[in-house]
Amino acid sequence: MNRPLRWVLLGASDIAASRMIPAMRALGHTIEVVHSSSPERADSFATANGIPMATSDLAVAVSTPADAVYVSSYNDLHRSHTLAALAAGKHVLSEKPLALSIEDAEEMATAAEAANLILAVNHHLPHSPVHRVARELVEQGRIGRVLSARIAHAVLLPERLRGWRMEDARGGGVALDITCHDASVLNPLLGRPSRVSAMGVRQAPWNEGSANDSVMTIIEYERNGHPVLAQTHDAFSVEFETTSFTIHGTEGSLVGRNAMTQDSTGTLELVTAGGTESVPLDVGRNLYEIILDAFAGAADGTASPTVTGRQGVETLRVALAVLESIATGRSVDLN
Ligand code: NDP
Repeated sequence: MNRPLRWVLLGASDIAASRMIPAMRALGHTIEVVHSSSPERADSFATANGIPMATSDLAVAVSTPADAVYVSSYNDLHRSHTLAALAAGKHVLSEKPLALSIEDAEEMATAAEAANLILAVNHHLPHSPVHRVARELVEQGRIGRVLSARIAHAVLLPERLRGWRMEDARGGGVALDITCHDASVLNPLLGRPSRVSAMGVRQAPWNEGSANDSVMTIIEYERNGHPVLAQTHDAFSVEFETTSFTIHGTEGSLVGRNAMTQDSTGTLELVTAGGTESVPLDVGRNLYEIILDAFAGAADGTASPTVTGRQGVETLRVALAVLESIATGRSVDLN
């Protein structure tokens, strides 16, 4: 385990309270201060989560003695919060999507590089055991040449989270919330995405926002000079089926079940001419602890973040292309 870090939290958010604070503490990290736009919410969040200091002053928050800043505010604030933290000399772990435009996301990545600080993105899936082992098997050639991949990431959005996510300006709906996670899994597996085509609808009875809650997407990748198609289904309206992903190759298929969740769960099967074998996985480790420990190593210069800021720019590029394709009714060329 890497040296524990001291954290500033920007965002009195659900994900901070439910996932990140427990994961930080499990690794021995400490939380020095929480920032909220509302002084009352900052205070109540600090009290509820045992954080010694609360503030609604961003400059005070980012200048608090600490090693790193975790940004889990609204999506449209990730950019300004990240830039403020970097300017104060702190490493940053930002929530996804990194920003709401490629220009903003690139500005963030460039600012981190210029300051020689770590910028990482809290995509929890690519280093989960299911996806890491699937990537290793693909790299070993166990399914031959990759032909296609399919992700079923349709879930029911918990009632407590049915707010700003469904506003186009602030949240971006399911595409910026979930499709960017799919891209965080597909990009390292399949290479460079070249074309995106998507359709989206609002179908959840509770969705009173302007953004889509169900999106289906086809992404064309180029892997080792060969075209590969990926298909994703992302929804906030599906209650009764677990998530999955499948990778088809010329010599076999990999099937991951219950594989797109925030918990370290999931199974992986390898299907070849020889039959179906269950791939052993060590799913014991909390996915957010994996991210935080790698981030701590990166801060000490001994490891790489699980998902870098630049990789976060590329997951955003796919998600924004999805929105553009839905809006225009056309495929979006990413070249
Ligand atoms: P929340 O709605 O819980 O928090 C977002 C902001 O909403 C907070 O920063 C806070 O603003 C404000 N807020 C929170 N509670 C209240 C309240 N009761 N009344 C008024 N305002 C409130 O969002 P999430 O935690 O779901 O998401 C935060 C970020 O994390 C998003 O960018 C999301 O995409 C990402 N996320 C990532 C996940 C992952 O697995 N990587 C999973 C879930 C979310 P303020 O700080 O000003 O108080």
